Amino acid sequence: MDRVTEEKDFAKLKARLAEAEETLRAIYEGEVDAVVVAGPDGDQIFTLQGAERPYRLLIEAMNEGALTLDSDGTVLYCNSRFAEMVDKPMEKVIGSEWQLFFPPEDQGPFQALLDGARTQGHKGEFALLTSKGDRTPVQISARTMQLEGVGAFAILVTDLTQRKRAEEELQRANVELAVGAAKLQETVAELEAFSYTISHDLRAPLRAIQSFAGILREQFGAKMEPEAMEYLARSASAAARMDQLIKDVLNYSQTSRAELVLGPVDLDRLTREVIVHHPDFRHTEIMIAGELPTVIAHEASLAQCISNLLGNAVKFVTPGATPKVQIRAEQREERVRLWVEDNGIGISPHHQQRIFGIFERLQPAGAYAGTGIGLSIVKKAVERMGGSVGVESEPGQGSRFWIELPAA
Ligand code: ADP
Repeated sequence: MDRVTEEKDFAKLKARLAEAEETLRAIYEGEVDAVVVAGPDGDQIFTLQGAERPYRLLIEAMNEGALTLDSDGTVLYCNSRFAEMVDKPMEKVIGSEWQLFFPPEDQGPFQALLDGARTQGHKGEFALLTSKGDRTPVQISARTMQLEGVGAFAILVTDLTQRKRAEEELQRANVELAVGAAKLQETVAELEAFSYTISHDLRAPLRAIQSFAGILREQFGAKMEPEAMEYLARSASAAARMDQLIKDVLNYSQTSRAELVLGPVDLDRLTREVIVHHPDFRHTEIMIAGELPTVIAHEASLAQCISNLLGNAVKFVTPGATPKVQIRAEQREERVRLWVEDNGIGISPHHQQRIFGIFERLQPAGAYAGTGIGLSIVKKAVERMGGSVGVESEPGQGSRFWIELPAA
């Protein structure tokens, strides 16, 4: 080799050395990321430069573990989150075989995941082993990629610990809830049966009081002082009120207990029947706007609801005023809303929720007859038929009660 050639080669080598030194400096100073892969032709350096750097930063910042495997399964790169997951320093992870991080029973499935990833992206759930042998449930998704012309795998590892824990807690809570609900149902059923029996038994002595008061009035009325007759009349009316109360409670508990078989009910026919058959409605002004549609309901329960709403509509008017009631229906997508609108005393928005509760009455006893059960029966029955109830009103402006049921 002549001197000129030697000098040329020397210059070339110097230039390559400078280049390599510059690359190493950049790697050390974090300007460039690199991975070193041992291959048949010696070590090969893969650098992640320029446009790829933001991705690298992203991968470092994210909460998922990320790693790159070469086609033989050696870790070429991992982010710090993955190193944290397996509880090993990054330098120890890089260069290891993937088998190190999975328990034996998961190794077959993981290999299958890698094989599948050659054709398409693949996901699976595995246990990840820490250096201490602890297991972390993870989801892994694998894809193949080309790393500077060489086939490799990009692996994303998501820690499922929290999700699994939340799932377990949810499951436990569901079980507890189901047990609680069953117990509650049992208690409610017992209470309902109890109230039914009590109410039933209460009516018998009450009937005795009523019939003896009747006998007293008929057989001894002529001999009694007017004051004594007045007391007798008061006892009889108190007994009648109590009887109504018991009947209403029975009715309410029946509404809660009875099995309701739902089917199409012609609202128009039913409403007209309720009006005709109710003694209080015959001489009031009740107008039905248009023809009412058919709904899905339990006929007897729906009749009871309409009767209760109409009963209130004609009852709660200022003394001396003539009640005027309008009934109309409104189609609302799959449902029908039946409105019962009156010209009565109205209800302040403040009390509109309360009145659907059992025994809730807004007026002092004696102002209007009633037991405070009618609307709670309406609410219970409508809800059991898969519907809802409500009211719009202002004091002195009349009330617009509605029940909504599925359309037929
Ligand atoms: P009751 O009619 O036996 O008092 P309800 O449960 O039917 O019991 O009604 C509860 C309360 O709601 C009534 O006492 C009354 O204060 C109020 N209310 C119900 N309907 C009307 C109405 N149409 N107009 C004004 N107030 C009403």
